[in-house]
Amino acid sequence: MPDDTLQRFQALNVWKARDMRAPHKPLLALWAIGRCLRGDERLAPFGLVDQELAELLQRFGPHRRTIHTEDPFWRMQRDEVWEVDQSRLVRTTKAGGAYKSDLKRHEIHGGLKKADYSAFRTNPRLAIRVAEDLVASHFPATLQDEVLEATSILASPSAEIEPLDDRQSFTVRRRPRDPVFRKKVLAAYGYRCAVCRFAVQRDNRPLALEAAHIKWHEARGPAEIENGMALCALHHDLFDRGAFTVLSDLRVIVAADVDGEGVEQSLRRYDGGHLKAGPQQGYPNPAANFLGWHQREVFRSPM
Ligand SMILES: [Zn+2]
Repeated sequence: MPDDTLQRFQALNVWKARDMRAPHKPLLALWAIGRCLRGDERLAPFGLVDQELAELLQRFGPHRRTIHTEDPFWRMQRDEVWEVDQSRLVRTTKAGGAYKSDLKRHEIHGGLKKADYSAFRTNPRLAIRVAEDLVASHFPATLQDEVLEATSILASPSAEIEPLDDRQSFTVRRRPRDPVFRKKVLAAYGYRCAVCRFAVQRDNRPLALEAAHIKWHEARGPAEIENGMALCALHHDLFDRGAFTVLSDLRVIVAADVDGEGVEQSLRRYDGGHLKAGPQQGYPNPAANFLGWHQREVFRSPM
């Protein structure tokens, strides 16, 4: 029943209250699907999950002081996509969570449910379909391949097969994009990158210029000018990865921990300065609440 499998994994795509990003369960599910595609054992000890999921959360999750790997490991049981062995050895909190120390001490193992694991083994296309859907629901397009690569799903030989027929047989629930958004945002910013003024054109059409959502479309960020910025492909990518953010007075703040060749040219020179090409006259500035979301949930700086 592939449709049922897809639906159970899709149900993980619930955004938490107060607009906080919660990629924990999807990342754990993706990690497990990657293991399955590699042929690793179905159940893995919590110690390993703890280490590898923490790395994924550090890379792709919001910036948080403490990383709680025990929550998805324990709570995903209720989503009917995950099981945990020896669960009676684990004490639970009032809120229904598990104690990390118990999971470690008793070497509790967790993994995909048997039926899903075998379905994915015999039909890797299904596994990849589920993984792509998870990743598309939680991460903007600029990050999706990197997440699939980090969970070793992209490396799987089955990922290269054109899905063709497969794809049509699934009903995919995805938020429709608003085609007018791009037009409106690019016009509002005068067809230039807000950060660097990049405005290369051919036949009067902008090249490599994109309408970025400040609060991600995947996080139910609306398709409104106040939630958009025209950014060149490079700055769009860097913005979605939290390499810089924009304050409500339209100053650019660059993360303290980015380096490498080109960092001066593409980022540092803009640090602390205002957007080089903000909205044109008559158009609204980006709204403070969307910028605030980006600062909290996407911008990553160790400062
Ligand atoms: Zn740019």
